[in-house]
Amino acid sequence: MAGILVVAEQLDGALRDISSELIGAANSIKGEIDGPLQVLIVGQNVEDLANKINLDGIDDIFTLEMPDNHFDPLVYEEAICSLGADLKPGIILIGHTVSGMGYGAAVAARLGSGFASDVIALAMDGDDLVATRSAYGNKVEMELGFPGKGVVVLTLRGATFAPPEGDGNAKISPAEIDLTMLEGVSTHVEFQEAPPSDIDITKADFILSVGRGIQDQDNLPRFEALADKLGATFGCSRPIVDAGWLPKPHQVGQSGKVASNCQLYFALGISGAVQHLFGMKHIDTIIAVNTDPDAPIFNVATYGTTIDLFELTDALERHFN
Ligand SMILES: Cc1cc2nc3c(=O)[nH]c(=O)nc-3n(C[C@H](O)[C@H](O)[C@H](O)COP(=O)(O)OP(=O)(O)OC[C@H]3O[C@@H](n4cnc5c(N)ncnc54)[C@H](O)[C@@H]3O)c2cc1C
Repeated sequence: MAGILVVAEQLDGALRDISSELIGAANSIKGEIDGPLQVLIVGQNVEDLANKINLDGIDDIFTLEMPDNHFDPLVYEEAICSLGADLKPGIILIGHTVSGMGYGAAVAARLGSGFASDVIALAMDGDDLVATRSAYGNKVEMELGFPGKGVVVLTLRGATFAPPEGDGNAKISPAEIDLTMLEGVSTHVEFQEAPPSDIDITKADFILSVGRGIQDQDNLPRFEALADKLGATFGCSRPIVDAGWLPKPHQVGQSGKVASNCQLYFALGISGAVQHLFGMKHIDTIIAVNTDPDAPIFNVATYGTTIDLFELTDALERHFN
């Protein structure tokens, strides 16, 4: 299989973690393919970014200098297809991020390539690439092959692949990419920052999460205080966010965040819908508290109790205060 092209990602001039994770993923199979590891980085003052992303294992970094750092999926699509025509990579790795989702599938459609999104593992089986992704709301994991495809585009899940440890000495050069056909096609209107949050569910190692079982917004502060006391990050199920009781960064699950680094998950009054399990069922130790003995959360729990969550919280507060 030919080489690997990684599309680095930056936000407002700062490299995102997914960029080095993509390079780590590429390095994990690079020894088994016959081709270079090349990186494309797009943005303003892009050479600075290229120097920062110059990590172990990369052979070449191609830069595309832009007048600003605004994200435009059409620019990425054009740049990847144009550079891809010159470099002829066998694998194109993109972050499974809001940005990557904006152009990954379009690139695959344009190239007529193989495609898989939200990939969580990569391997080579002889000359064939095998990508692992979840399906049916994280109930099963499947391995995908791409028979007959000369190019495969993959978007990789964040906080899943380890970045390389050392610096590299890749050659950095500007990519010759003609973007004139995009002039006037789209206009950047505004960049809105997400509300600041000190919560990062993807990095937390211990999460105490609450669900609809807590019944009322007025009950929320005591669980937040308990999480604080126990040294846990405070998470929740989606209805808590939908009701406006907690901001979105607290949400665990399919349309929230995956608790990728969590070792211990304490679920209070959460039923265990597949969409919630998507974000936490892989965790080594799960403690579930739910009065319904048939609640699906017990299918993934390491320890479970059907005690009333308020009774348990009373006892924990007494114990830890
Ligand atoms: C496209 C899509 C994406 C979604 N994404 C997400 C997502 O990212 N994250 C997410 O969480 N959900 C998500 N959902 C919603 C999901 O389907 C469920 O509706 C949601 O997870 C249920 O939240 P819950 O467990 O808090 O509430 P419920 O299902 O209502 O469960 C509450 C539980 O609390 C228990 N309980 C009640 N009182 C007590 C008590 N006193 N003591 C102990 N236990 C008690 C009940 O027995 C019950 O099991 C998504 C849905 C869709 C369609």
